Amino acid sequence: MTFLKRIFSRLSIVSIALLAIACTVPPTAEPLPPTAVPTARPIATVTGEPTPLAIETVLPTITQTSEALATSTQVPARETIVIPIAIYILDDADDALSSQRTIADIEAIYERVNEIWEQADIEIEVQIIQRVTVPNELLLGINRRDFFSFFGAVNRGEVNLPSFAPIVGFYSKELGGPNGINPSNSNAFFVMDTPSVYDERVTSHEIGHILGLHHVLDDAGRLLYSGTNGMSLTEEEQAVARYAAEGLLAGVR
Ligand SMILES: [Zn+2]
Repeated sequence: MTFLKRIFSRLSIVSIALLAIACTVPPTAEPLPPTAVPTARPIATVTGEPTPLAIETVLPTITQTSEALATSTQVPARETIVIPIAIYILDDADDALSSQRTIADIEAIYERVNEIWEQADIEIEVQIIQRVTVPNELLLGINRRDFFSFFGAVNRGEVNLPSFAPIVGFYSKELGGPNGINPSNSNAFFVMDTPSVYDERVTSHEIGHILGLHHVLDDAGRLLYSGTNGMSLTEEEQAVARYAAEGLLAGVR
């Protein structure tokens, strides 16, 4: 290869490289610094492989452009997602298995539930709180965690629930062990009268399950850790819950 051809070849490589990089720079990019123009380099110093110097002088321009773009992209504030809930306090016709909670108790719980869910900008909007009398055998079934018999009776109108909502919460005197339960694949949950942790935590935890969150095993400070007063939601959990909430409101689960 002759000397002239080599020079031509090197200039071509540098020019093509610069052209390729220039094409990737958005139109708002600042003009390339003069040192990046190949003709500004003394030909006599060009030896061997195409020098990376010209490329290096271009790279800071690209980096600055990326940073400028990143900082100019404002993250919009999250909108609060409002999820209506219907709440029923379960009473026994014979009274022995009636919940001892009052409507005022429940209202107070939901004020604190919303302090927890505010982390995810999700608001649980109480649509109705009502006492409902349930046949004794169904309450005994709930205590054995037989929720299907209860749901079946609701569907047949044997237990009259005046209205539904995207989430339905039931407050029962007993649950046969756990503080709260979200029967699988349902948008309903049950909470017992005397849980071993804070009431608002139990309710918020069960709502978390309905919003697609699973138990975590390694951090007792988290809302989805089982059996503690942990109340924190990670950013990922917040995103999952918000996505599930949108689906719930759209009738998709
Ligand atoms: Zn759980």
